[in-house]
This record gives sequence, C-alpha cells and structure tokens, in this order.
Amino acid sequence: MRLDVRGVSVHLDGRPIVHEADLLVDDGEFVCLVGPNGCGKSTLMRTIYRALRPASGLITVDGDDVHGLSWRESARRTAVVAQETPAELDFTVGEVVLMGRTPYERAAAEDEERCARALDRVGLAGAQERIYATLSGGEKQRALVARALVQETRLLLLDEPTSHLDVRHQLEILHLVRELGAELGLATLAVLHDLNQAAAFCDRLYVMSAGRVLAGGPPDQVLTPELISQVYTVRAVRRTQLVFERLKEEDG
Ligand code: ADP
Ligand code: MG
Repeated sequence: MRLDVRGVSVHLDGRPIVHEADLLVDDGEFVCLVGPNGCGKSTLMRTIYRALRPASGLITVDGDDVHGLSWRESARRTAVVAQETPAELDFTVGEVVLMGRTPYERAAAEDEERCARALDRVGLAGAQERIYATLSGGEKQRALVARALVQETRLLLLDEPTSHLDVRHQLEILHLVRELGAELGLATLAVLHDLNQAAAFCDRLYVMSAGRVLAGGPPDQVLTPELISQVYTVRAVRRTQLVFERLKEEDG
C-alpha cells in the first residue's frame, strides 16, 4: 500500500490552509508529520481520510484517487486513530472495536473472534464488556488501535494519538503501533507533537509550517537546528538529556 499526496491544497471557509503538499508513505514505513500548532497537519490528515476535499492536487492510495472511492472501499484501505477520544461514547469496548467492521458484511461469530484477537494484541484481552468511557487514556487509545486493526486496512493514519497520555503511555502506544505496522506491513502516517519522539520512532518524517510541507527525509537529516528555528522559532540545542525507555510489561 502506498499513499501518495501530490500538490494538495485545502481551503477552509474560503481560506487556504494547506498549500501544495507532497508526501509519500510506502508499505511497512512509519512516517511522521510534525509542525507547529495550527500549521495544517490535521487539515491535511482529514483530507487524506476524506473528511475534507482538496481544492487542488491528488491523493492516491495504491494508485486510486481516494476522493473517487466509495466510502466503503476507502474504509477498507484506510484506518484512522485520532487524538480526540469522543468522551460521550456510551458504548462497550467490544462495540467500539466492532465499529471497525462497518465497511464489511457483518459476520457475528467471526467478528467477535476478530475483536477478541485485536484486543488481545493491544493488551486489552477480555475487555469487551467494559464501558469505553471508563477506560484510562492509554486504554482508550489501545482500544482505538484495536478498532483500526479489525478494519484490516493497509494504511493507518494517526493524528496525535498520544497527546493526552503521560510519557510512559505515549511510548507504549508508539511501540505498539510501530510493532503492528512492521508485523502487518502497514503504511503508517502519524502526526506527533514531540520532535524527539518522532525522530526516535519514524523511518522518515515530514515537517510542515504555515500550510506547507517544507522538508522530508530521515529525521537526522531533516531536523536540523536551522530548520527547527525557522519552523518553530526556537533555538534547538543538542545536549545530554533524560531519555525515556519502556520498562518491561508490569502495568501502571
Ligand atoms: P494543526 O493540526 O497543525 O494544529 P489544523 O489543521 O487543525 O492545524 O488547523 C490549521 C488551520 O486551519 C488553523 O488556523 C485553524 O484555525 C484552521 N481551521 C481548522 N479547522 C477549521 C475549520 N473547520 N474551519 C475553518 N478553519 C479551520
Ligand atoms: Mg492537529
């Protein structure tokens, strides 16, 4: 599965928000998109998953224009894990995960089995009957990853999937997503806030600023002090700092 974004511009309320964005994600790649608040990352992501239409340019998944696909066909190719976990969800975890099967014919027994396997894979084995709203932030995100898994897509989009989580649970989600992507050969595009984390987890990253994709490539080549100061108007200094790594499985 290859996601190809070519010259995409997006307008909102008649205002240009994204300008001529180019971006590529290939099979098995974990690609990050970073950039300051309000630079247009979510707008671009929403256009890729068809919540918005581009004013110009083309977005293809495996060569097909995503805006020409039926919602069903599109939902079979692209799964989304967003930042906002709808707080009002008065559903069980099992119901939330099964929403991932919406683009397919329902098959009750097989779907229960898929749901159980996906929950197991994200470390929420047996959580089907729990009320989604009562989960911790980290558990909610893992349930949404399970929902993406049962959707059986080859492209996974994540928009700040770890923003509400503490550092340990951020790492947990990022490791999980990266491992799943490698295991299943997914093309993964993730908007991440933390530049160090993005650099540590991605194969490649793109930097957006004021609606434009300014640079793309391996993180150590792209995240130069010059680019960071241009984009974020802060000075980037390399120095020894605390580095967080996951401990073993015991839960917290
Ligand atoms: P990011 O995800 O990088 O923080 P967004 O894509 O959410 O940025 O927003 C980019 C710009 O588009 C912001 O200036 C924001 O105010 C504006 N914007 C976002 N959503 C809408 C909308 N529905 N209507 C009008 N403007 C919007
Ligand atoms: Mg955003």
